[in-house]
Amino acid sequence: MCAQFSGNNGQKTLLLDHSNKLAEKIRISGGGRCNFTNLNTAPECYISNNKHFMKSALSRYTPYHFTELLDKYNIAYHEKTLGQLFCNEKSQAIIDLLYNLCIMNHVTIKLNTQILKVEKDNQFIIYTNNGEYYADKLVIATGGLSIPQTGATPFGYNLAKQFDIDIVQTNPALVPLTLDPKDLNYFSHLSGISFDSITELPNISFKENSLFTHRGLSGPAILQISSYWSSGTPISINMMPTINIVEKIQEQKKSNKKLSTFLGQFTSDRMANSLVNILKFDTNISQLNNNQIKQINNLIHEYKFIPSGTEGYKKAEVTKGGVSTNELNSKTMMSNKVEGLYFIGEVVDVTGWLGGYNFQWAWASAYAASQNF
Ligand SMILES: Cc1cc2nc3c(=O)[nH]c(=O)nc-3n(C[C@H](O)[C@H](O)[C@H](O)COP(=O)(O)OP(=O)(O)OC[C@H]3O[C@@H](n4cnc5c(N)ncnc54)[C@H](O)[C@@H]3O)c2cc1C
Repeated sequence: MCAQFSGNNGQKTLLLDHSNKLAEKIRISGGGRCNFTNLNTAPECYISNNKHFMKSALSRYTPYHFTELLDKYNIAYHEKTLGQLFCNEKSQAIIDLLYNLCIMNHVTIKLNTQILKVEKDNQFIIYTNNGEYYADKLVIATGGLSIPQTGATPFGYNLAKQFDIDIVQTNPALVPLTLDPKDLNYFSHLSGISFDSITELPNISFKENSLFTHRGLSGPAILQISSYWSSGTPISINMMPTINIVEKIQEQKKSNKKLSTFLGQFTSDRMANSLVNILKFDTNISQLNNNQIKQINNLIHEYKFIPSGTEGYKKAEVTKGGVSTNELNSKTMMSNKVEGLYFIGEVVDVTGWLGGYNFQWAWASAYAASQNF
């Protein structure tokens, strides 16, 4: 994206990538249909040590700029849910578009290029297995650490360190969470079952689906909360956010249904049985005492669990942390210390929510940098 803008500005532009394919993460994103932006993009949907840093770039290149580009080149898309825009066809349409814009704007693309060393004299000297290149401006868009098989490396962070540029500690984010054996014992046989939920940490909550997995929990509400979670902290989950279980019990309090049968009205039988296993009573509704009703309410609406960890970079959608925003100019993405060195996209300490926000940051930060060339 940045290369095509740069070429369009009349700059002689070279795009280097060590991979043999362009933009693998676009290809695999959004289940193969690339959730390329979100209509609700706003600074509040991003995590960064500086919550203001992304404002300038996001306001100058909005989701509507990107959809205008897609409209111009007849790439069809639709809103799935919550402002999330997906391609109607495969993600490859976006990769082809960016590639064709690069070619139209005279960008030279060199794939399979290992960057061996970068030095800065009057210019940047980039040593590669395909020769040396000299440039006044160098943009680092090497992304985060997740899914190494797509070509992800710590190159951007290492280069920043080489130039004495601070890094905010990196961690997997938008990542499935694992449970310890005690909790897993109750839930692992529910693997594959998804349910409406609200996940919550102090100051933030997400109302979306959650999903049981063999090793813990996943699904949108879990991925979202994972970006805010720190090791050892309990997460609260409401497993039936659309009903009030205490009210439902009161409504049916003369019923002789067993608790498991009663709960089965609001969730799958398997999940109802697991909940009863955790409670350790399957009393008739008419015989529930106040303490039991309280336990049911706590379990269903405020179940607290401490994840044992995350599934790590091999399953994470993004990397949280990265090049410190204190080191960059928010209007241009240029390093404050090194003239002509820019960092854009996921390598920067700006991490979006699930739902197209990370691509929107990639487009917007690319545009911001390119306007400074
Ligand atoms: C499975 C999955 C699904 C996702 N789905 C979505 C989604 O639907 N919507 C959304 O907004 N976000 C999604 N994301 C996140 C999104 O893909 C990234 O935030 C986005 O691609 C970041 O763009 P980037 O240009 O900064 O980095 P990347 O897209 O990661 O590109 C980095 C490039 O740098 C190259 N590179 C890395 N190291 C080197 C090196 N040492 N030398 C040379 N080249 C190097 C890589 O080969 C790669 O081409 C998803 C991520 C994953 C993993």
